Amino acid sequence: MKNIELKARTAADINSQVAKILRGLGMPEPPIDLRLVRELLKLDRAYYSAADDGALRETVSKLTVAGLQVLKRPTLLLDAVRSMSLKALYLPDQKRILLDEDLPPLKHRWNEAHEVGHDIIPWHAGMMMGDSERELTPSCHAQMEAEANYAAGQILFMAGRFVEEAGGSAPTLGLVRALKGRFGNTITSTLWRYIEQVRPDLPMVGLVTGHPHASRRKAGFNPTDPCRYCVQSPSFTLRFGHTTEIDLFRTVASYCGAQRGGKLGEAEIVLSDTAHVRHLFHFETFFNSYEALTLGVWQRQAPAVG
Ligand SMILES: [Zn+2]
Repeated sequence: MKNIELKARTAADINSQVAKILRGLGMPEPPIDLRLVRELLKLDRAYYSAADDGALRETVSKLTVAGLQVLKRPTLLLDAVRSMSLKALYLPDQKRILLDEDLPPLKHRWNEAHEVGHDIIPWHAGMMMGDSERELTPSCHAQMEAEANYAAGQILFMAGRFVEEAGGSAPTLGLVRALKGRFGNTITSTLWRYIEQVRPDLPMVGLVTGHPHASRRKAGFNPTDPCRYCVQSPSFTLRFGHTTEIDLFRTVASYCGAQRGGKLGEAEIVLSDTAHVRHLFHFETFFNSYEALTLGVWQRQAPAVG
């Protein structure tokens, strides 16, 4: 899973919208309070769920969504919305965000920030009614989604603030976990952002997986696709990007214990770069009782083998 890269001009436009929000809130301390963001932007928020799709009916029945006759049959509304793989909707004409309450609460914050992103990106309003893949060509939709995700990241990590605060400390999982608490976002999104943005020149790789120990793997574990996410810093991709996720997972499994939670292990690992030069990395893995997080950080060139 990789993000679409935005053009510098597009990113700069979104950055200036996010900067406006942060200024409007008086440059607050992290974590950013999305309730205040909504107040500032005069956005309304409501939830829908399988048990209660009232908000959805009330709002969407007012919509004229091209080609979506099914919306005229309220009983199918929730199914229709979910079949379009919507996790949330933004209704520009009503300045309203609708969130799927049945998703894990941890995801609500990201989804809400994503919908705020659609609101603040000036060219989105005209292009969308709701967040539907059927309205737009798939590539155009994917582009808008990437832009809204970029905006969500900028909002939740408060533009330059995250990099500024994270940059001064040694790269460890302990730091990533502290930043998770400080900015109030998920550990996965925090790890992702840390690796991609804080030290782009330092080769770093992060994995989000199930428990790596053979005795604790889930029934559905797929050895040919062992990682939920594999995120690499730009310089890791450049020099070590040929290392496969399967190899990385095998490496992690080699030093991890079978503990139920907490630190699973750490090790010095040798990876070869594109020129076949060997380098030492420090790898560490932590299990938070449902997913294992690994951070691998470049240390130095390894001594030649004699
Ligand atoms: Zn979207």
